[in-house]
Amino acid sequence: MSRIVYVNGEYVAEEQAKISVFDRGFLFADGVYEVSSVLQGKLIDNQGHLTRLKRSLSELAMEAPVTDDQIQQIQTALIEKNNLQEGLVYLQITRGAADRDFAYPAGVKPSLVMFTQSKNVIDNPQALTGISVITTADIRWQRRDIKTTGLLAPCMAKMLAKSAGADDAWMIEDGFITEGSSNNAYIIKADGTLVTRQLGTEILAGITRKAVLKLAAEESIRIEERPFSVEEAHNAAEAFISSATAFVMPVTSIDGKKIADGKPGKLTRKLREIYIQTALKSIM
Ligand code: PMP
Repeated sequence: MSRIVYVNGEYVAEEQAKISVFDRGFLFADGVYEVSSVLQGKLIDNQGHLTRLKRSLSELAMEAPVTDDQIQQIQTALIEKNNLQEGLVYLQITRGAADRDFAYPAGVKPSLVMFTQSKNVIDNPQALTGISVITTADIRWQRRDIKTTGLLAPCMAKMLAKSAGADDAWMIEDGFITEGSSNNAYIIKADGTLVTRQLGTEILAGITRKAVLKLAAEESIRIEERPFSVEEAHNAAEAFISSATAFVMPVTSIDGKKIADGKPGKLTRKLREIYIQTALKSIM
């Protein structure tokens, strides 16, 4: 069955959805996006995603075509129209359609496109085994704090991982891991300290990252927000990633090297569990 998607004010079957060939999202990746997860038909941490969306837009001097409340209404309508129980709502705002020119056009209405994807987020089988990652050079641009649709570099990293038989890639800059292809990266040291890169233009400020760090602090886990090296990652006691659609996902091998005994770590499993419980509580 085909999905109902939202395009610039209209709910249409996905086959009917149309966007201009002059849309700057298509020509320049001149657009930003957000992904909010859905559990039991309800949005998780959506306010955080809308706040980050505003920041991405403002960094690119782009206007939202609708208010936050309207975005939320559309998200909810799509969940209902598609009878989505678990998965995600994707939303993308592009600068709109104008004759091709590098300079931002004046007076053009931005485009808003939204759709749902169904996915087992809680009962993801990978959470039981953990995922494998490889490391590769971070060849992305230098404003990774802006959530733009210009995602070819992470697509290439993901394909490199796939061709190496791994699930994902952690990207390296100057010897230190920045983040995963579409997630934030963490290690846990033998003494139980959680290490993840500090916020800055080098990484995306994950909404899940913020929630995970808060929960970790509440569990009295020591946190170090700093760059960590590939070698430190290889020798970590535990490793994991976070994102809106992976939640907390164990990493059990890096560059073909097992992390500890090659099974999801204890603190990682605990953080995943607490994250899910907290998310479920937030929608009750
Ligand atoms: N870093 C990158 C590069 C990402 O693409 C994502 C997910 N879009 C994240 C981190 C995780 O962010 P969030 O927890 O908000 O999904």
